[in-house]
Amino acid sequence: MICAGNWKMNKNPDEATSYVSSLSSSLRSGEEQKLILLVPALCFSSVAQGLKKTKIGWGGQNCHWQDSGAFTGENSVQVMAQMGATHCLVGHSERRQFFGETNKTCAQKIAALQKHKIIPIYCIGETLAERDSNVTEKVIATQLQEGLAADIKPNLILAYEPVWAIGTGRVASTEQIKAVHGFIRAWLKENRAPFKDTAILYGGSVKPDNAKAIASTPEVGGFLVGGASLVANDFLNILRA
Ligand code: PEP
Repeated sequence: MICAGNWKMNKNPDEATSYVSSLSSSLRSGEEQKLILLVPALCFSSVAQGLKKTKIGWGGQNCHWQDSGAFTGENSVQVMAQMGATHCLVGHSERRQFFGETNKTCAQKIAALQKHKIIPIYCIGETLAERDSNVTEKVIATQLQEGLAADIKPNLILAYEPVWAIGTGRVASTEQIKAVHGFIRAWLKENRAPFKDTAILYGGSVKPDNAKAIASTPEVGGFLVGGASLVANDFLNILRA
C-alpha cells in the first residue's frame, strides 16, 4: 500500500522542514518506504535535506520533458534527479485544467522522468460532465492509450482521480472505485501487458475516516492524498487505516 501526499501550492521551506521532521519522528517500522511527498519546487531543498536519512520518497508535482532550456517557469527533471527526487506527478487534473497539460505532453514528461530514473505517478480521471455523459471509460482509455506511449516502461504508478472528487469532500463510492480500477486493470492486461501489475492509487477527498473502506476495494494499491496530507498526523493515519 502506497500513500502519496500532494501538497499542491502549500507550505514554505520552513514549514516543509518542520513537517518532514514531525513525519519522520512519528514513523513506525516498515512505514517509511510506503510514503511519498509531492511538494512545491520551492520546498525541494528543505524536503531533500529533511528526508536524506529516510526511505520516504519525494518529488515534484510537475516537470518539463527537456533537461534545460528556454522554458520559463518549468521544473527540470535532470535537476530534480540531481537533488535526489524519487517520484513526480504527471497529468494531475489541476495541471490539465489550469495549465493545458494534455495526454501527449504527459507521455513526454513520463519518458523524461524514466530517463532520469524518477518514478512518474500518472494521474487519470473523468470530470463530472464526462461521468454524467457515460464516457468515463472512454476518457480513461484515451488517457492510458496516449499517456502510456510506445517508449514508456512499466516502472510507473497510476493514480485514478475522479476530477469531481478532488478537493470537494465528495469521495467516490467504493462501487464506483471498484468499477473504474477494474476497468483500468483489464485495459492494461489487454493493451499494455507489461503494465499489467502496475499499482493503481485512488485519489479524491481521502481522509483518515474513509481510507479503510477504500483501501479494501479491489485493485486499490494505495492513495494519492491532497488536503489531508498537509498535516503529518492525518497523512500517517491514512496510511495506518
Ligand atoms: C489531489 O490533489 O490529488 C487530491 C486527491 O486532493 P484531495 O485529497 O484534497 O481531494
